[in-house]
Amino acid sequence: MALVVQKFGGTSVADPQKIQAAARKAIRTHQQGHQVVVVVSAMGHQTDELIRLAHQINPRPPAREMDMLLSTGEQVSVALMAMAVHAMGYQAISLTGAQIGICTDSTYSKARIRSISTRRIRDLLDQGNIVIAAGFQGIDDQFNITTLGRGGSDTTAVALAAVLDAQVCEIYTDVDGVYTTDPRLLPEARLMPYISYDEMLELASLGAGVMHSRAVEFGKKFDVPIHVRSSFTDIPGTLITTQPESRTRPVTGAACVRHDARVTVRGVPDRPGVSLALFAPLAQQAITVDMIVQNVGADGRADISFTVPRGDLEAAVEAVEQAARSLGASAVDTDQQVAKISVVGLAMATQAGVAQRMFRALAQAGINILMITTSEIKISVLIPEDQAVAALRAVHQAFQLDQPPEDAPPPHNGQVQRRSHANAVAVVERLQGMEDLLVEDVSLDESQSRVTISGVPDRPGVAAEVFEALGKEQVVVDMIVQSFGQQGRASLSFTVPQKDLDQALQVAQQVASRLGAQVSHQHQMAKLSVTGVGMRSHAQVAIGMFRALAQRNINIEMISTSEVRVNVVVHRQQGSQALEALREAFAEAMI
Ligand code: ADP
Ligand code: ASP
Ligand code: MG
Repeated sequence: MALVVQKFGGTSVADPQKIQAAARKAIRTHQQGHQVVVVVSAMGHQTDELIRLAHQINPRPPAREMDMLLSTGEQVSVALMAMAVHAMGYQAISLTGAQIGICTDSTYSKARIRSISTRRIRDLLDQGNIVIAAGFQGIDDQFNITTLGRGGSDTTAVALAAVLDAQVCEIYTDVDGVYTTDPRLLPEARLMPYISYDEMLELASLGAGVMHSRAVEFGKKFDVPIHVRSSFTDIPGTLITTQPESRTRPVTGAACVRHDARVTVRGVPDRPGVSLALFAPLAQQAITVDMIVQNVGADGRADISFTVPRGDLEAAVEAVEQAARSLGASAVDTDQQVAKISVVGLAMATQAGVAQRMFRALAQAGINILMITTSEIKISVLIPEDQAVAALRAVHQAFQLDQPPEDAPPPHNGQVQRRSHANAVAVVERLQGMEDLLVEDVSLDESQSRVTISGVPDRPGVAAEVFEALGKEQVVVDMIVQSFGQQGRASLSFTVPQKDLDQALQVAQQVASRLGAQVSHQHQMAKLSVTGVGMRSHAQVAIGMFRALAQRNINIEMISTSEVRVNVVVHRQQGSQALEALREAFAEAMI
């Protein structure tokens, strides 16, 4: 007998017939001799409707009351689901997050789970019940109801699977599994039988709404196999485990975010502590910042651009404006008509030329890249929003994602091996908060140089031209950032191995003179990387790095963030000091 967690999303419980169908699935699994915990979302678009309703009453509803309201959606569906099971002659009991004992912090609308008590669920299961748990909600230590963020029922489900030591967490949804990109945007998207935690984590946090990224964090941290599949068909779906679909293909999937906004703070002084001053107020409000790019001008002043979820824009600007004023910045400007397109793949870390393929595909589609950031396993570009689908299609095609990889493993039948628990249990015991930051490593790479081409024209094809020229000379480029331009000119920075610097500079000079741009460089740079789980969604990771470096007066030259890694580039003579500072800063979160 095993324990199985099954989660049904909104569309899968949208009407009485669908609730009955979901109940039948749970009963079937129960009949096979398993204990079953069902996690349910609010019916259909109920959460959206509640949000609309709230805004009709108060355009800025208090966060606490919003969570109180939104949690009712799930309370309705768990009760109905339990009734459906009863009607079919089986025992079931519904529980809210509070009744289960899902304890969270008090960050309304994006609360993090601190602990889950398993006693009550276990007792109820042992008594023969199918336990129906409300997704998306918890309770803080003052008994306030909290919610986990949109799409958070996935996180409830995987978290329950982790603490209950479930064999698998099945995510039933309205598509057949995880596709190479959103199949509703691109019909040519391909269903993937397997995807690794890291790739899914990255894709989910870069816009693949099929999974809540924090659910994947739990899966990875606690070793829970996640099986994404359709509520409406018997297609075997996608297994999210440590196994990738391909170990050689550089790009596994592409994702798109259309609800981000860009913020640029212009004319901040280029000195240690500036990033800390700008981003600390955002972290305090748990606003997730992505695509942080700075562009140092000739006068020693920098423009810092970043993206935030559009819903957080107002709060972000408010927070940043104050900091910008005290730093003497000249302006803060924003753009909501942007989209972020990203490609993700584990194997890209070891292959050259991936970025240039993406940039060329976008250039051929006539799409202008507004910003670029890369990390080891992803490349993100910011583009005009109205070109989002065209851009997604162009990169999907360029990496032939509609075709299965050559080294694809044999198809699975949906059965997963029971995982080994020793490690997961030890980790649970060590973590006070289940969603606490988990840092695996802090490392230093002193072999890098930085090249910057400033004043490149802000038009389609420039990034492709630069990186193709470098690729032709076999220069392996590591980190790439393109800052948000001003007056039609942008700047492109990248790191290369020191041994390749001369060659990179030669190529850069040639391209720059064609483009009317200037090249500058730093020979001896050090890249520091903090790796772990949930690095970007924990807004305080980047802040922790900024603070630790600012305290030692170390200037940050480049930064890139991803869910599994945050990198900063500093001058090499400060590398080992920076390493020490970061090790100290993250000592507590280290496993
Ligand atoms: P649920 O209500 O079941 O949680 P969601 O709407 O949250 O469902 O997630 C499923 C949706 O995710 C799909 O309908 C699809 O449009 C979208 N989606 C985005 N990216 C992907 C992807 N890579 N693979 C599959 N679906 C995706
Ligand atoms: N009902 C919540 C939402 O719509 C949570 C979920 O469905 O996962 O975001
Ligand atoms: Mg969802």
